[in-house]
Amino acid sequence: MLKLFNSFSSKKEDLEPFERSLVKIFICGPTLYDYTHLGHARIFLTYDLLCRFLRDNNYATDVLVNMTDINQNVFNKAKEKGDDYSVIARFYSSQFMLDLNLLNIKSISRLAHVSDYVSSMEKEISKLLEQKIAYSANGNIYLDVSTLKDYGALSKQSKEQLNLHRLDVGPNKKNQEDIMLWNCSEDFGFSWNSQFGKGIPWWHIQDTAVAIENFDRNYDIHGGARELSYPHHEAHLAQYRLITGSDNPIKIWMHVGLVLSNGEKMSKSLGNVVWARDLVHRYGQNLLRLYIFSSHYRNDIDFTESDLLTKKPLLEKLYKARSKVSDRSDQELVILVENFFNSFNDDLNSPEALEILDKICTNVIGGSNLSVDNFLRVCRVLGIES
Ligand SMILES: [Zn+2]
Repeated sequence: MLKLFNSFSSKKEDLEPFERSLVKIFICGPTLYDYTHLGHARIFLTYDLLCRFLRDNNYATDVLVNMTDINQNVFNKAKEKGDDYSVIARFYSSQFMLDLNLLNIKSISRLAHVSDYVSSMEKEISKLLEQKIAYSANGNIYLDVSTLKDYGALSKQSKEQLNLHRLDVGPNKKNQEDIMLWNCSEDFGFSWNSQFGKGIPWWHIQDTAVAIENFDRNYDIHGGARELSYPHHEAHLAQYRLITGSDNPIKIWMHVGLVLSNGEKMSKSLGNVVWARDLVHRYGQNLLRLYIFSSHYRNDIDFTESDLLTKKPLLEKLYKARSKVSDRSDQELVILVENFFNSFNDDLNSPEALEILDKICTNVIGGSNLSVDNFLRVCRVLGIES
């Protein structure tokens, strides 16, 4: 059975979906103002690998990705270009889909522009106001997190630690760590009308509304970068619990590590951003997958092109083995293939799987028999196009 590390409990847990043979996954998606960099690509490749493995185990998957278009960076880009925010957002969402295609990511079933869900955000905020857990302060709406059970559990923070944050600053907030739901006090150049006034639905409630509209009361896995744990995921979990009335509406929080570039966080100002499409054009998505999967998804990666190229011999071995597959598998190979798949059961241990893949290829090249079906099954789970 598949075990995944749950950031909420800090333990590896059996994946037991709400619906027996369907796994519902929400992934925090891109903010629509630029192309997909390697850090984003790693996130979607990781959940693609997970979905491929789940499908190999006869699960269906339903993957929802939200695409953030209500955001300061999107608005800034729109102002810079003299366009409406939606023109920028639609352009970059089409580019995101192109990038997914280049990366052979086929597992996403629903892509949501968050701006299509503003009325739902308004409805959910009203519910929180009715429950008196949300309040208005100088026109802004905030969630009072001070009375919430377990708040801070996901990001492993005590009440005292939470209180050190200065979040979503505005006058008359009850607690410094309270989360903004609707911002009426700042002028971003774009705004939405609501019963709370003209303003912007704030970041975290956007995800909550998209998840509720698509998945209703619960789903199995919430994914995204580890750096989103606080305040974003902590706030989303609190809101989702309050709105659904369920203590446990999301089973597993599965966070992916960072991708650094030559030791530093990727940023345009440092000039070290690595675009996924450039790597695919230069090296192909097969090599990129072997490179990404050679590190465990929870570890950070420090990207260098020379590290990427160290995976080339494995890919070449795989191609060589492909030309030698037969119509049956020797017992020794059957066991290796079984071990290959079993390694994913342990929190998607892809580095171990790739070590076994190396052995499989060595044996096949050396004359052992591997059936074409087994070979194709291995490639299918890795997303390698053979
Ligand atoms: Zn998100």
